[in-house]
Amino acid sequence: ETAVKQEILEKARRLGVKFVRLQFTDILGVLKNVAIPVEQLDKALDGELMFDGSSIHGFARIEESDMYLRPDPNTFVIFPWRPRDGAVARLICDVYNPDGTPFAGCPRNCLRRMLDRAKSMGYTMHAGPEMEFFLFHVDADGKPLLETHDKAGYFDLSPIDKGENARREMVMALEEMGFEIETSHHEVAPGQHEIDFKHSDALDIADKIVTFKFVVRTLAQRHGLHATFMPKPVFGINGSGMHMNQSLFRGEENAFHDASRPDGLSAEAYYYIGGLLKHARSMAAITNSTVNSYKRLVPGYEAPVYVAWAEGNRSALIRIPQKRGLSTRVELRNPDPACNPYLALTVNLAAGLEGIREKIDPPPRFPINIYHITDADRMERGITSLPASLEEAIKEMSADPVMREALGEHIYTKFIEAKTAEWNEYRIRITPWEIDRYLVNY
Ligand code: GLN
Ligand code: MG
Ligand code: MG
Ligand code: MG
Repeated sequence: ETAVKQEILEKARRLGVKFVRLQFTDILGVLKNVAIPVEQLDKALDGELMFDGSSIHGFARIEESDMYLRPDPNTFVIFPWRPRDGAVARLICDVYNPDGTPFAGCPRNCLRRMLDRAKSMGYTMHAGPEMEFFLFHVDADGKPLLETHDKAGYFDLSPIDKGENARREMVMALEEMGFEIETSHHEVAPGQHEIDFKHSDALDIADKIVTFKFVVRTLAQRHGLHATFMPKPVFGINGSGMHMNQSLFRGEENAFHDASRPDGLSAEAYYYIGGLLKHARSMAAITNSTVNSYKRLVPGYEAPVYVAWAEGNRSALIRIPQKRGLSTRVELRNPDPACNPYLALTVNLAAGLEGIREKIDPPPRFPINIYHITDADRMERGITSLPASLEEAIKEMSADPVMREALGEHIYTKFIEAKTAEWNEYRIRITPWEIDRYLVNY
């Protein structure tokens, strides 16, 4: 423990660090941070830094607002875009109560708890997200516009793709911060990009996702662009997803691979898929957590709508990429990048583990494009839809004890409370579509 601490203090000295940002995430997935001068780092590493939790969403009531931040030394990195002289570093923290117990409202603690459960069953969870986002122009005052900076499409090359320079710098900064970037490319919609990084254990990946969003937004701004992870910013073109590739490892082995079976998928892989499909509707409030999320989950834009799985079919909720061996994995396609990645991985894992424990068989694969199936045919095959709105998603989540247990009473209750309020706020607004449609006609 002290060796790790000494190592970080030494690193901070060697790299000329002047400020350290202590970061953590609220239940809605918003990254928060407290900056400390490097002189306070010693104390901070001992977990002695206190903050007022009552001002953080879903954290605490006023009368119990003292919280402690415990930095995870593995998360120490320097921000490469800041000056080297007087450098800025960050540490991601777990949140603790004054009595030294893990705080129940901390999403990172929540994921740790589920990872421990997987461990007790002999598994570690690996995950690999595919991060999609838009780059938009800003006006003279720096206010984001809905104009995209280019007219390029899938895998297009410059000079059409003007976001390429910005993306190149994003990739370089991320690499300096310890990401192994596998691919980056222009996505289908104008102004839309994707960057993929190497899979890793789930806690590391959740940390990387919050870091990724922060880095991409920061560097876009330095290029005079606005990066958004809003799921569906523009009607009529693709939205942004965050496909979550996931697998379980048993030691060095991928537990989803079984070379002795014709399709190379183990019984555990099947049960895991069974669990994900069973809870897909009740997990949606977490994986698709905004009012806007449900405007992405509609037919025709490569986003899933129906609860089904397939090998190559991109209209399905779950796809099994071709790769086997250590890369055998399940790709869950409904999560979007606005979700809280700690909670999304927690509920995915909870559902998958329940599948394994209860030996939940998934329904047969669904090979054809489900966008084109008739409702009657769907009904006959027992294929349900994902929730059509945040309201429906909240209802589903409220009725699933597996979600309550996975998230813990505190996060479960606060999350439903916050999302119900968000829905109610939206519900009473009058949208431009209504004005267009009704103002003159009635
Ligand atoms: N943007 C699509 C989505 O919303 C995915 C496109 C793709 O990666 N094939 O999920
Ligand atoms: Mg992809
Ligand atoms: Mg993509
Ligand atoms: Mg994908």
